[in-house]
Amino acid sequence: MKKIAIFPGSFDPFTKGHHDIVLRSLALFDEVIIGIGYNSTKKNRYFDIDLMVEKIEEVYKDMPRVSVVVYNELTSTLAKKYEAQFLVRGLRNTTDFEYENTISQMNRYLNGELDTVFLITSPQYAAISSTVIREVHRYGGDVDEFLPYSL
Ligand code: ADP
Repeated sequence: MKKIAIFPGSFDPFTKGHHDIVLRSLALFDEVIIGIGYNSTKKNRYFDIDLMVEKIEEVYKDMPRVSVVVYNELTSTLAKKYEAQFLVRGLRNTTDFEYENTISQMNRYLNGELDTVFLITSPQYAAISSTVIREVHRYGGDVDEFLPYSL
């Protein structure tokens, strides 16, 4: 059976830290689906969702095992729809862990066949956060160095 993983997130924007998680996931799974969701606590996106889909698709255009979807439902429902057995999430620090631990247990409650696989960030990307990138961009700073594409 094909091993399919969803990498869910807001990806506002998709960063080199996220890209690193996708590349490493390809060693574990046959297919990786990047799911851009509407996080209920981050209702208003800063970067346009269609622009983000376009940029991510550009990054993976030569990697047929990676695809992108936008979703507006439970991640566990999305996983069922795509017959994905795994979710992938990245961990940078204990704050990420506290949050991820709860979400992961809830996802397992909602879909008992779904396992979340956590990849610890590569040290060179540990300080990259979408929130900080948005702030830098908002005030006119150049953020391309932190992204696997140019804006
Ligand atoms: P969410 O809003 O769902 O937390 P994000 O787009 O912020 O979505 O992040 C998606 C996933 O990528 C999360 O698991 C997050 O911890 C992880 N992540 C974010 N930045 C990095 C990074 N620099 N290195 C590794 N993982 C990261």
